[in-house]
Amino acid sequence: MSTLEIRDLHVSVAIADGEEKQILRGVDLTVKAGETHAIMGPNGSGKSTLAYSIAGHPKYRITSGSVTLDGEDLLSMTVDERARAGMFLAMQYPVEVPGVSVSNFLRTAATAVRGEAPKLRTWIKEVKEAMERLEVDSAFAERNVNEGFSGGEKKRHEILQLELLKPKIAILDETDSGLDIDALRVVSDGVNRVSETGEVGVLLITHYTRILRYVKPDFVHVFVGGKIVEEGGSELADRLESEGYVRYTKAAV
Ligand code: ADP
Ligand code: MG
Ligand code: MG
Repeated sequence: MSTLEIRDLHVSVAIADGEEKQILRGVDLTVKAGETHAIMGPNGSGKSTLAYSIAGHPKYRITSGSVTLDGEDLLSMTVDERARAGMFLAMQYPVEVPGVSVSNFLRTAATAVRGEAPKLRTWIKEVKEAMERLEVDSAFAERNVNEGFSGGEKKRHEILQLELLKPKIAILDETDSGLDIDALRVVSDGVNRVSETGEVGVLLITHYTRILRYVKPDFVHVFVGGKIVEEGGSELADRLESEGYVRYTKAAV
């Protein structure tokens, strides 16, 4: 049973001319395999900063606190080591990888994470089945990663990676934004499939409550001003749906 532990995390981001701005102000969160957590908060509250910090993005400086996966210090690992340790991060704005096909990208990623190249025959079958579940046609595998992808294709590609890489902890930043209803359903089904294995802890970061109609979180955390200000079960998402974030943002000003 894997556990991601975030303790009192403070993070600053480099802005212009060596200036820094503090974004995260003491984040505490524990995510265990088999659990689905939702982090919900207004724009600019620092949700993506949390994802980037855990991913190891060089622009984000940890000023104090810790992040561990099964007791191992993630923050001292390289980006590759974090992936090999079992972390999977789907970013809000996935980057294009010109000249690299989806098929090659997935195989390279699987090789890096598993420590050896997957056997070709089983791998081809695995990819084909995963693509069918995500309702993408086979030509998709030959396209360059994220090049000219629609919003729905980018997110399907992320879920494809998630299903094939089988991480211990998956952090999905705004996986639901910009999706039409069909894509949202396909992506949500993918998240639920992964979650139902009981082997993956899922941290779903979102601004909207929409995806939470399809993915039922065990825990909801309200994120405002760089930290968690309230926690509850999925009923908290229902309340946010009707009331919005006003009560928290008012208090924060
Ligand atoms: P959210 O994902 O909740 O919308 P972000 O983490 O993207 O919030 O941003 C939180 C705050 O940090 C915002 O005020 C944003 O402008 C600032 N910020 C985040 N990343 C950067 C960056 N790379 N450079 C400058 N400011 C940043
Ligand atoms: Mg679950
Ligand atoms: Mg964001």
